[in-house]
Amino acid sequence: MSLDDTTRVPDRPLPCPQCGYDLRGSVGDRVTCPECGAQVRRAVLNAHLDRARRGRVLQQALDTAAAGVVLAVVMASACLIAPSGTCVLAAWVVSPALTFLAASPVVRAMHQFSVPRGAWLLPVAGYVAWTALMAGYVLFVPLAALAAWWRALGWTAILGGGQAAAMTLLAALLFAAYVLGLRRLAAWRKARERRVTALMEIAQADWPASES
Ligand SMILES: [Zn+2]
Repeated sequence: MSLDDTTRVPDRPLPCPQCGYDLRGSVGDRVTCPECGAQVRRAVLNAHLDRARRGRVLQQALDTAAAGVVLAVVMASACLIAPSGTCVLAAWVVSPALTFLAASPVVRAMHQFSVPRGAWLLPVAGYVAWTALMAGYVLFVPLAALAAWWRALGWTAILGGGQAAAMTLLAALLFAAYVLGLRRLAAWRKARERRVTALMEIAQADWPASES
């Protein structure tokens, strides 16, 4: 780090690593926080700021991935109500493509860290999978149950008999699975949160401080 960098006054928030007080405008290599009295080296301050920035970038990428996955599940779910050729395309081609696309900012964000791909690929896949499972469970299962029930009603009116009974059974099973699964949601969210933590740890790992 050049002398110019250490004396430069940054025009952005520079939070104290201890108390978060904005040390923007401070000068010199050693800064004393007026709020908590902590003595912080400039390099540490900058590293802390950079860590926070990396965390924000990753969080945004994760949010984008989650939004894309939910949208993909919604598209796939909508096909249950109105099955048609286009819907099959949406469910089997567009939804996976959308998921892949939505997850790509996370992959890009993780690529910039000097850790082997094997260290973060599984947590990324896990995050996407848990998000898809949760969204699919909340949206897909009840819709599938409704669709089966609706079909059973239609068949009873027209045909009656075995198929309608099978559909009614399927609907009942799906509704039961939904009610039972509700209790699992918290555990799934925790499993998803563990992936976020793992990725955040990589993203916010200490990089060799650019001192002297
Ligand atoms: Zn402080």
